[in-house]
Amino acid sequence: MKSLIDRLYVEENLAQAPEVKAIAGRLGLEAEAVDDIRRVYAGINAAPDPVSRGKRTLLLTANRGAWLRRCPGTRYYTCCNYQILHIGTFCTMDCAYCILQAYFHPPVLQYFLNREAMAAELDSRLAQPEIGRIGTGEFTDSLIWEPWTDLNPWLVERFAAQRHCILELKTKTVAVDRLLSLDHRRKTIMAWSLNTPRIIASDERRTASLDARLKAAARCVEAGFPVAFHFDPMVLYEGCREEYRRTVERLFEMIPADQIVWISLGTFRFMPDLKDLVAARFQRSTIVYGEFVRGLDDKIRYFKPLRIDLYRDVAEWIRRYAPDVCLYFCMESEEVWQRVFGFSPSQYGGLPAMLDRAAKAHCDLEPEVRPGIMANEAAGS
Ligand code: SF4
Repeated sequence: MKSLIDRLYVEENLAQAPEVKAIAGRLGLEAEAVDDIRRVYAGINAAPDPVSRGKRTLLLTANRGAWLRRCPGTRYYTCCNYQILHIGTFCTMDCAYCILQAYFHPPVLQYFLNREAMAAELDSRLAQPEIGRIGTGEFTDSLIWEPWTDLNPWLVERFAAQRHCILELKTKTVAVDRLLSLDHRRKTIMAWSLNTPRIIASDERRTASLDARLKAAARCVEAGFPVAFHFDPMVLYEGCREEYRRTVERLFEMIPADQIVWISLGTFRFMPDLKDLVAARFQRSTIVYGEFVRGLDDKIRYFKPLRIDLYRDVAEWIRRYAPDVCLYFCMESEEVWQRVFGFSPSQYGGLPAMLDRAAKAHCDLEPEVRPGIMANEAAGS
């Protein structure tokens, strides 16, 4: 399939890196060497729609900052202590609600070539005995890089060689073919964001359909990978309950519950800056028009009782199929936890400990996790 990317740049001092030739060949493009990447940024900013331009422009560059970063949670909401491995930025798919449209200035696809520096920092983390949950799908989609780079097989094999950390590859694609035969040793969790077919069609351009995502997940299960799912962002619209119920049903028709490490739930939330971008770029999308309030972290969220009602329903449907699965909220308050699940993570050692226990239960990890009981047992579910 022809790639969307139609411009390829490389920082001049990296132009001879062997990966450049391989990526250019796979994309069928010449890599133009640039002495100053600000020239690339200026070209994107000058486009009529910089976000769309940035999705078609790939800049091969170096990461000069930290490779492992804390997920940017806030002190007001329960955060899971996830670590992001910063492999690159932005995405070729185009979701109306994607925070990355407003997060990067300018928004541009960047892939980092200085792998040795990544290896050094990652190896030092993997050598530590504490459980770590590390993912690449926060500043980009983990698997969009599959057709052009060897990064994911390299990561899967690196994580397979240790017993302290899991790698979560989070995606809305189906680009799993090359990963299936890898000797992953259950250290990589393949994860998909899920939504109703209606939201996928209206607000997730160029992503795989719900059924295609679930088929790819089922293939990963067959290949022995643990899997995870993220119902995030759930969107309120007329008829959404029935459609989320059907989406949950479809998930469990295709995936055995005991292979799922965790499922997260989150409702649509956004920084105020995003509203004008969504209105301009997704004229038929209605997601930014609803009963919203501004949260403690300044993000706009659905009015709390609306969030709680939807969470209760979706959690109940999931529990019917998977009473023991680790179900958690991304960025919700203790009150919401209490009102939906009847407990808060702090009663069971905190959300990081809950997720560490889930990882330990499904992945082949070595160290003892923090003491405590499974929150799901405590919830009597
Ligand atoms: S798939 Fe993820 S990273 Fe890509 S546009 Fe959608 S929300 Fe953003």
